Amino acid sequence: MKFLQTYSVIDRSLRILWVGGDWDEFALENQGPAAVANRVLSTRLDDHIVGDDTRTAVLALLETVFETQKEVKLDYRCDSPNKLRRVQLTVRPMKEDRVLMVHDLRDVQSFVKPFGNWHYRHDATSAKCSFCNSVRHDGGQWIAPEALENHPTAVRYVVCEACQAHIDEAIAAVRENRKPLRVLVNGFGPPG
Ligand SMILES: [Zn+2]
Repeated sequence: MKFLQTYSVIDRSLRILWVGGDWDEFALENQGPAAVANRVLSTRLDDHIVGDDTRTAVLALLETVFETQKEVKLDYRCDSPNKLRRVQLTVRPMKEDRVLMVHDLRDVQSFVKPFGNWHYRHDATSAKCSFCNSVRHDGGQWIAPEALENHPTAVRYVVCEACQAHIDEAIAAVRENRKPLRVLVNGFGPPG
């Protein structure tokens, strides 16, 4: 497995000051040419996050680090149509009111049966959680990607209840100066 890490430095106004690591490889594979380093520098982080819930969650993590000057870690999934990918996000305080965001690819597995490509549509009836990648069709049950028969072709990005609880707990633990409780999301635990 190729070791993959991306880094970005964000200031208090959410401007992206610097990106590094395998940023361009990761951007091209996931978001296409619009996300490569020289196109995102000096733009705002929140302009690159799709879905209101997802944007709110990421900004809450950053705000927690800006305010407490303590590190926050969060595991999430960033699957592609043929690969299950577990990623750890670390948001770390830096001097001069900046934070460092590190996305660290921890595990990659090929799906037994690859999905077709999906795309974002704001009014899609199927929702996909940006953090565990589970899918819910028309208000039904959340289903993990590996348990899906077929992946919907259009999804809107949201945060499922389990991931929201996981994020809230990660934030609360940092603010209360304690270890996070073990909240499991879709079969993978909190940062080790
Ligand atoms: Zn989720």
